[in-house]
Amino acid sequence: MTWDFSTEPEWEQQLEWMRAFMRERILPLEALHLDHKTFLGAIVPLQDEVKAQGLWAAHLEPEHGGQGHGQVKLAQMHEILGMSDLGPGVFGNQAPDSGNGELLALAATEEQKERWLKPLLAGEILSAFSMTEQGTGSDPKQFKTMAVREGDEWVINGVKWFVSNADRASFHILMAVTDPTVHPYEGQSMIIVPTDTPGIEIRPLGVMNDPTASGPIHDHCEVHYRDVRVPYDNTLGGEGQAFVLAQKRLGPGRIHHCMRWIGVAQRAFDDMCERAVSKSVHGARLADHQFVQDFIAISAAELSASRLLTLHAAWKIDQVGASGARKEISMIKYHGAKVMHDVLDRAIQVYGSLGFSSDMPLAEMYAYARAARLYDGPDEVHKATVAKLIAREYEPVDIPTDHIPTRRAAALEQYAHLFDVVAVQ
Ligand SMILES: Cc1cc2nc3c(=O)[nH]c(=O)nc-3n(C[C@H](O)[C@H](O)[C@H](O)COP(=O)(O)OP(=O)(O)OC[C@H]3O[C@@H](n4cnc5c(N)ncnc54)[C@H](O)[C@@H]3O)c2cc1C
Repeated sequence: MTWDFSTEPEWEQQLEWMRAFMRERILPLEALHLDHKTFLGAIVPLQDEVKAQGLWAAHLEPEHGGQGHGQVKLAQMHEILGMSDLGPGVFGNQAPDSGNGELLALAATEEQKERWLKPLLAGEILSAFSMTEQGTGSDPKQFKTMAVREGDEWVINGVKWFVSNADRASFHILMAVTDPTVHPYEGQSMIIVPTDTPGIEIRPLGVMNDPTASGPIHDHCEVHYRDVRVPYDNTLGGEGQAFVLAQKRLGPGRIHHCMRWIGVAQRAFDDMCERAVSKSVHGARLADHQFVQDFIAISAAELSASRLLTLHAAWKIDQVGASGARKEISMIKYHGAKVMHDVLDRAIQVYGSLGFSSDMPLAEMYAYARAARLYDGPDEVHKATVAKLIAREYEPVDIPTDHIPTRRAAALEQYAHLFDVVAVQ
């Protein structure tokens, strides 16, 4: 199949609008280091402009208030939003709300949609996805949090870990064991748990770029559920469906992260090049020293490769759906995260101590990049997936011990006439 990443001129104009909007309206907000509450207030008028432009929650289908754009267009859009981690919230596709919105659109009952999806899409409430338990994120078969049915209620006990937004969200989508007698893939369910339900205790965790857990975007929390009671009707998509739903949620969600990472890496790359042509040491511009030329050349190639891999994965999802593009999605998950990480590392190096200071955005972006190699599946898990899928494309062959001599003898026989010609001459 021929790859085709082209989009119509009207969309190009929208992309231009987004670039200018990000540069002129959103990047200045970064320098204010707002707390979360002030940030949410400050972006309301910006969100209204995005809605008026017809770009709000573009990842969703039109019946849920989105634009129904294919993944290629979303890739182009998310690269621009990725310039700043403040961008997605202004455009209505901030994780984990974006993935949770997709999940509710996919599996919620009409009542659940009315109560949770509608206000979530309108940007009136926030949500959390409560899945990981400490040290088990890579192997969800080990989850221990239990939900036991008592009459019309679930009674939930357990501890979840690194739940983004847990204390700011109105509800959590919780993944819990509901039938320990069957295989874990069939024995876990997703349950909607309102955050103000008695028995929930939340501890925000300090992290690399937010040691006091007070940043503007979201924090990450340990969540204790002790005898938490919610209606059985809060089950999402049917009992035992958690793994199926998690795969559907994480596939497309992942690629939106990867699209944004290109924007992060591009911004770091632009900063690095600007610095390299602006500063001189030992009689020459940084850009004329070979070490820095190596940084620039390698980063440019890696960035282009990452963008093309991402566009290709997006295009493949548009052609065959997310499950048919598993290999491509996993490939950009580890490749994109590593490229973003490495380009940022080089950009900080070129800036020296200024790059490491909070007078520049690079240190903050670097911590963001470091986390990307862990969440939504660490590098190693996605590499293993890609390797397994590729290995399935190959058949075993017999390799006799005299493989090379046998092949050489066969080749000599096939091309004997070449040697005849040589002999005659
Ligand atoms: C910023 C951030 C936000 C997050 N937000 C959420 C959220 O909202 N909700 C939520 O539920 N979770 C969230 N997480 C948790 C995230 O999903 C987990 O960190 C991730 O799945 C890895 O799980 P773990 O941390 O338990 O690491 P572990 O499972 O303990 O893995 C540790 C390491 O073991 C190695 N490893 C694991 N598996 C393999 C393998 N198959 N082969 C080789 N090596 C392997 C890898 O090096 C891996 O990094 C978030 C994490 C971060 C960093």
